[in-house]
Amino acid sequence: MATDEDYVRDAIDISRLAVEHGNTPFGSLLVVDDSVVRTAENTTRTDDDIAAHPEFKLARWAASELEASERESCVMYTSTEPCPMCASAIVYAGLGRVVYSVSVDSLAALREDSVIEIPCEEVIERSGGSTTVEGPVLEDEGLTVHEAFY
Ligand SMILES: [Zn+2]
Repeated sequence: MATDEDYVRDAIDISRLAVEHGNTPFGSLLVVDDSVVRTAENTTRTDDDIAAHPEFKLARWAASELEASERESCVMYTSTEPCPMCASAIVYAGLGRVVYSVSVDSLAALREDSVIEIPCEEVIERSGGSTTVEGPVLEDEGLTVHEAFY
């Protein structure tokens, strides 16, 4: 059985692919019953779409394609802590758990452009959502991708 760290590494690998494909370094995946049901990488640049964050795409997909019980047991692994837009989508989709590598504070420390520094957990709590949030996990590994990019 794969561990949280294994899946976080997979998300970090996907964030590298996003860069290779001309986008910013963010990648995510969804796991239900210990199997990966969907992956997504950031495509904000190639799609010219500010909402093309991987977590947002996965939350939309889960809300549309998974049963409520599957969403409750669903875990989103993501290379960086979800932004407030994505955290809201995660609440609307009713995902059970989120595990991230790089925290929003660590990302903001690296980037010159604007990062909305509201922790994912705070958005979920204030939304009345029941998603549990864990991280940072393997943050040094996740940060290497950001450090190479920004
Ligand atoms: Zn986002």
